[in-house]
Amino acid sequence: MANYLFGVDVGGTTVKMGLFNKDGNVIEKWEIPTRTENGGEKILPDIADSIRAKLTEKGIAKEDVIGAGVGVPGPVDGNGIVHRAVNLGWGEMNLKKELTALLDGMRVEGGNDANVAALGEMWKGGGQGHQNLVAVTLGTGVGGGIIINGEIMTGATGAGGEIGHIHVEDDETEACGCGNFGCLEEYASATGITRLANRELAKSDKDSVLRKGEVSAKTVFDAVKAGDELAIEIARKFGDYLGKGLGVIAGVINPEIFVIGGGVSKAGEVLFEYIKPSFEKTAFHGCRNVIFALATLGNDAGIYGAARLLL
Ligand SMILES: [Zn+2]
Repeated sequence: MANYLFGVDVGGTTVKMGLFNKDGNVIEKWEIPTRTENGGEKILPDIADSIRAKLTEKGIAKEDVIGAGVGVPGPVDGNGIVHRAVNLGWGEMNLKKELTALLDGMRVEGGNDANVAALGEMWKGGGQGHQNLVAVTLGTGVGGGIIINGEIMTGATGAGGEIGHIHVEDDETEACGCGNFGCLEEYASATGITRLANRELAKSDKDSVLRKGEVSAKTVFDAVKAGDELAIEIARKFGDYLGKGLGVIAGVINPEIFVIGGGVSKAGEVLFEYIKPSFEKTAFHGCRNVIFALATLGNDAGIYGAARLLL
């Protein structure tokens, strides 16, 4: 029985890589640059070279490797085929077949990066012990990953779990990045919170520390913790939208736990105070009993989840 796993998280500028033992303990982490020129043709060969070099360096035989799991910023279907990864320059790409060939037959599994990160949080992060989990990443956008009975819900084309584009507001005049109006991402991402804050600041003449410096998701929640009334209003709006979105998801998949990660989650458990009231109002009573937890793996969730794809 082989003992080692590689977890690879391909981003637009760097590829994060990890060597794990089969219990999920990381032996070493490193990064290589993502070379996106010429349709990203160098990305897989670079990953293969780096894996081979690591095996040599550690004196690990190829036979002792279970395989390499890879997370990609784009839809990946159940056959390991990527359906466009814009940030990498890839069109349709048979990730599994091509990387296996470059690694002389080593087993390869692939998945969408947000879904894979959710799997990582289930395995070794904030969602440990749960098999039905929704990971929500509040970063520049709102990403998501849905795990049902321990398996990623990829959907038909690998775009399952795109929870940032759930419709939560009918009266929105600014378009979301996806072209629709009123998506969750427009209110619950770091960018969305900043936008909400600037709107509220313009609408009200209430005094606030937010009028004195930079407005960001971080400064909003710092102000919330300091008891700033206007910041609390903004947090309520954020929480109303996110709670509503999560309430809809809960009614569809009945999860045990929501694992909240991404830059905004650095605000901590205070977020839950603002999310839960609208969640409880929106979710069907049979699906309301859900744990809210913070993600714990940060940027490493992707390499953990990628390795976990092989088990
Ligand atoms: Zn959208």
